[in-house]
Amino acid sequence: MKAASPFSFPVRPALAAKLAKLGLKRDSDLILHLPLRWEDETRITPIGELLPGQTAQVQACVREAKVAYRPRRMLTLTVEDDSGVLGIRFLHFYPSHLKAFQAGERFRFNGEVRGGFLGLEMVHPRFVKADDDTPLPTGLTPVYPTTAGLGQTSLRKLIERALATPIDETLPREWLEELGLAELESSIRLLHQPPPGCAQHALESRAHPARQRLAFDELLAQQLSLATSRQARKARTTLPLPHRRRLTAAFIETLAFELTAAQARAWQEIGADLAAPHPMRRLLQGDVGSGKTVVAALACLQAVENGMQAAFMAPTEILAEQHYRKLAPTLAALGVRSAWVSGSQRRAEREAAWRAIAAGDADLAFGTHALFQEAGNFSRLGLVVVDEQHRFGVGQRLALMGKGAEPHQLMMSATPIPRTLAMSFFADLDVSIIDELPPGRTPIVTKLVSAARRDEVLARVRDACVAGGQAYWVCPLIEESDKLQLQTAEDTYATLVEQLPGLRIGLVHGRLKADDKQSVMAAFQAHQIDLLVATTVIEVGVDVPNAALMVIEHAERMGLAQLHQLRGRVGRGARESVCVLLYETPLSELARARLKVIFEHSDGFEIARQDLLLRGPGELLGQRQSGLPMLRFADLERDVALLERARDLAQRCLRERPEVAARHVERWLGSRQAYGGS
Ligand code: ADP
Ligand code: MG
Repeated sequence: MKAASPFSFPVRPALAAKLAKLGLKRDSDLILHLPLRWEDETRITPIGELLPGQTAQVQACVREAKVAYRPRRMLTLTVEDDSGVLGIRFLHFYPSHLKAFQAGERFRFNGEVRGGFLGLEMVHPRFVKADDDTPLPTGLTPVYPTTAGLGQTSLRKLIERALATPIDETLPREWLEELGLAELESSIRLLHQPPPGCAQHALESRAHPARQRLAFDELLAQQLSLATSRQARKARTTLPLPHRRRLTAAFIETLAFELTAAQARAWQEIGADLAAPHPMRRLLQGDVGSGKTVVAALACLQAVENGMQAAFMAPTEILAEQHYRKLAPTLAALGVRSAWVSGSQRRAEREAAWRAIAAGDADLAFGTHALFQEAGNFSRLGLVVVDEQHRFGVGQRLALMGKGAEPHQLMMSATPIPRTLAMSFFADLDVSIIDELPPGRTPIVTKLVSAARRDEVLARVRDACVAGGQAYWVCPLIEESDKLQLQTAEDTYATLVEQLPGLRIGLVHGRLKADDKQSVMAAFQAHQIDLLVATTVIEVGVDVPNAALMVIEHAERMGLAQLHQLRGRVGRGARESVCVLLYETPLSELARARLKVIFEHSDGFEIARQDLLLRGPGELLGQRQSGLPMLRFADLERDVALLERARDLAQRCLRERPEVAARHVERWLGSRQAYGGS
């Protein structure tokens, strides 16, 4: 017996597999598989009237087809109509192409016209076999996103079949009127099969009512899905951890400073979440240096005061260990027992740490991913803090959900997320924002210096260190290879040792053994090292207030978030801090734009916003994004107003018409994954 096709018409398994690659698993997916763009095949331009730069369709007869070998292998055609001759080149082709282009056969070619070596030509035009009596389409031709082995024509036919059935409206008519939105069915049909006279530029405009409707529906589905997952979480119960003000109050007394108003507010919000009988999922956002660690420590203590354990996780060993070294002694004085777990720790040490955690002899565990992997071994885990959460994968975060009562989670991020992104991708989380820096910080001066002036920079480093300061020297980033990165770090170190005699110079990089890494960091902290040569491992969290100068080599290779994070390592004391960005010329346009942003802005939120403009949301969200469906129709930069309306309607929809919500989400996400949700 054949397996039933999930489509309303028969689809061969091989084809179904290709469709699945595009996320197309049923009719309604096909219907929502919208064109990337449209092409005008309604007209034929005589070859004699073609102009370079124009995109056009010609109908012409093959005069000659041959394979040329210079400058490289390609298929070249000479085609003609009554008005002239046109050259055509295919750089990628199959033997079947050569066979199809028999002299005398007639084709339609559609592509961009260029002024070639021997007259006008098209490179890689789309083509179909056509006689004079083959009818021309009356409307624009949709061009769909597709995958290898699935041609436009086949895909177009499948979509046409799916469109043969009427499309149900998902939203009540009165809402559509209220929001000024077009109908779903007519919007979808218009985009797939533009009526005669519908212009390309109108369809391509985001403001087209059909595109607005689809973008709105997509955003609404996302908001509904996130809101539902958030509601579901709020309906689950877990152990409440009320504020007992024993350890927390004692800890605040040990601090050499007052909490800033923003820290106090964030702390209060977190404390209230912990006290509630539902699992907390709160994102604590605050720019680099805004003092998130103290707030996280307070949260951990609230768990410990309730007889529970807390896990404090960081994405790098340096950072995890720094948290441990800084906090553990203070906490020990309050009777709180800490353990330290890392992947590269000696086995015996690590086993001892886990024994303490499992027996409940440790109240607080600091560590890296290693904590995720064995999180089930906590005896009574009440809270998980994930520092720099954007560095962790989604899967890793979920692995913690394994056993026992669901722990509360506090995620921290110094990668500020523009409001639209936060609203759309983190709508399932609660968010606290620390929007002020502790007092007494002097702003960081950023200097852009061409690598040709490296000597001046060396002199500056020497002077700063001789005057009792400390500095970082960040090695060029080599993304492609760990080995090369190591080599570069060692070379940079060797060169600097030679060029800066008399300075105490240390080197830290990702390949260093944990113990060695720790001793270098401790030496830098204790000012036994003047200049720390480092790879981007120091990007997150490292906190040495006496270091007020940072040099970043090949800054043009780094992303904005990374530069902002790195720069945030200085400017932590009262001394005026300087960050020198050395760059190599010539600069690419993107690199130039990035350096300009980092030079002009110090506010992380503004930098993130600029980053979003330069790169688009996918990359910016990094890990959070992996495995989550991207928005296909909406654009988070430009559709802010639409997003706000979708969010409001989602709330109302869940309240007033839950069945509409369910139908809408099913239509949009039925065979896909939900957006977010943790
Ligand atoms: P981040 O938010 O980047 O993780 P940290 O928690 O590392 O920042 O804090 C940066 C520095 O600011 C630390 O040295 C910390 O001790 C200090 N700090 C934190 N809160 C305050 C405050 N309210 N007043 C003064 N210094 C503070
Ligand atoms: Mg931090």
